Amino acid sequence: MGLSKSSMGLNAVDDGLSIKKRREQDRVIALMGNPNVGKSTVFNALTNMHQHTGNWPGKTVATAQGYCRFNDRGYVMVDLPGCYSLQAHSAEEEVARDFLCFGGADCAVVVCDATCLERNLNLVLQVLEITDRAVLCVNLLDEAEHKGIELDLCELSNLLAVPVVGASAREGRGLSELMEAVEAVCGGEAPKRKFPLTRYTKPAEDLLERLMPAARRMAGDKVSARWLGVKLLDTVDISLKKSLTQQLGEDPYEDAQVREVLDGEDISGLKDEMSAAVVNLAERIYVAVKRSSAGGYSSRDRKIDRILTSPLTGFPIMLILLLVVFWLTVAGANYPSRLLSEGLFALGDWLRGACVGLGVPGWLTGLLFDGVYKTLSWVVAVMLPPMAIFFPIFTLLEDLGYLPRVAFNLDRCFRSCGACGKQALTSCMALGCNAAGVVGCRIIDSPRERLIAMITNSFIPCNGRLPMLISLIGIFFVGSAVGFASSALSALMLLCVIGLGFLMTFLVSKLLSVTLLKGTPSSFTLEMPPYRRPQTGRVIVRSIFDRTLFVLGRAAAVAAPAGLLIWCLSNIRIEGVTLLAHCAGFLDPFARVFGLDGVILIAFLLGFPANE
Ligand code: GDP
Repeated sequence: MGLSKSSMGLNAVDDGLSIKKRREQDRVIALMGNPNVGKSTVFNALTNMHQHTGNWPGKTVATAQGYCRFNDRGYVMVDLPGCYSLQAHSAEEEVARDFLCFGGADCAVVVCDATCLERNLNLVLQVLEITDRAVLCVNLLDEAEHKGIELDLCELSNLLAVPVVGASAREGRGLSELMEAVEAVCGGEAPKRKFPLTRYTKPAEDLLERLMPAARRMAGDKVSARWLGVKLLDTVDISLKKSLTQQLGEDPYEDAQVREVLDGEDISGLKDEMSAAVVNLAERIYVAVKRSSAGGYSSRDRKIDRILTSPLTGFPIMLILLLVVFWLTVAGANYPSRLLSEGLFALGDWLRGACVGLGVPGWLTGLLFDGVYKTLSWVVAVMLPPMAIFFPIFTLLEDLGYLPRVAFNLDRCFRSCGACGKQALTSCMALGCNAAGVVGCRIIDSPRERLIAMITNSFIPCNGRLPMLISLIGIFFVGSAVGFASSALSALMLLCVIGLGFLMTFLVSKLLSVTLLKGTPSSFTLEMPPYRRPQTGRVIVRSIFDRTLFVLGRAAAVAAPAGLLIWCLSNIRIEGVTLLAHCAGFLDPFARVFGLDGVILIAFLLGFPANE
């Protein structure tokens, strides 16, 4: 196989339609699928990227683009957000639908989970209504084989009239076959489907037939005319109406010919009938391709879930697990932290000695070593060990499939506070990073609930704050305790602080939902993925490089100039007084307004880069 790959970086959702081709003849491939079907794994394997793989719906909130070469041709792979349908119930579905309809992809690869193909087929059928330039990638075949599920992929390909490729992306199986099928579809070699896959009820098909002339005229070669006709029969979806108006140059719902057909017709019941037609077809296709009766929710997972998600045992286990994670972080970070600071400071002293020996002036060694180097050493010594422990453990729990269970347990609490259960997910994300938590709030559809989730997100301390919390706990609470007692007490206190964060989140969410942001909580579907053996080696490498060193690099980029500035401020003197003292004197009157003084305010201001 001639497959080579390279990455291109991330695009924000808003920018989801802009494609970065390297050459004009490059082909654009849209990668779609339900959440948790291994779409990111396929994308990463093809493009050599390290998109974060999480186990909850909505984690891919941005489209990523990557590049791969196959048989001397370049392919821009666009990883669309995971979604269950294209009916735009969420921001992810909207992005995926708009890209598929108007993004100009040469082929859509729909990744499915072989262990629950029937449910995945709903999305496949919706995609095939929009385009027939598609390839179905039935992933997780290894897991299906393990569960005794057998599927007839040839029959599936016949029934859907598109190429179907079996894969096990984690092991790299089936990926070259997938690219071969993509190449064939892009080159127009795959057979064209001549009939619509989904047939609706007679009244719907009759109306559709009457709408088709108008649909064909407006659709031109921009979108599938039948899909447009189907959408005209659906209840008007504001986001789709906006996209269609933009792309077709007119509002199809207001077209005179369309109104002539639809005005006076009662189409209110059609939406449900049409959705049912898709679900029924998916069921019939699944029955036709299934070659064994195995599958479904495994009894092992059911047993584990009974324990991990029951109110009686779920919460204590969750708290104990968190306690163990924090204890490992606190106890495990102490020793390497000390070693790192001693090592780095010894190296700094040696380097300074060497510089002095070479006759470097005192102010320059002070600036370089007391200002920049020492600050950087502190940042590395304090931040690196806890992050290098916490990130991999957190990612392992995610890969194992445990985090959605945490979200499930917390769902009840959030709903009883008038907030959306999905806030449990964004709050859990906040434990990793508040910025990611706030950005992740876009998975919440209702603006009211999204605002509550965003406002309360910062009550959960992200792990960037852990080193500071651990230091404060050490100074104020743990004090003279040593050894195991010290780290166990620190971990317990940390758990209490995080518990307090969640308590504040609940209280403020409740307060907001009964005062400024009144409303009823909306419902959502949270998929419990099967428990999977985490890929320990890959998770550790990925979380060290993608998260730990990335965060550390950003911290160092701020710390180095900040250290330089602070050193200058505290060493440059005017009339015998340091610049820092001058600044403190200048700020003193303003600081007194808040009951502080100039020195405290300047310390607070200098703390900003540290916080960054
Ligand atoms: P996405 O949500 O569709 O992007 O799914 P991910 O790529 O994040 O994969 C979800 C989980 O399935 C991760 O734990 C992957 O390691 C795992 N996974 C992906 N592909 C395979 C596969 O072919 N076999 C097995 N056993 N696991 C897989």
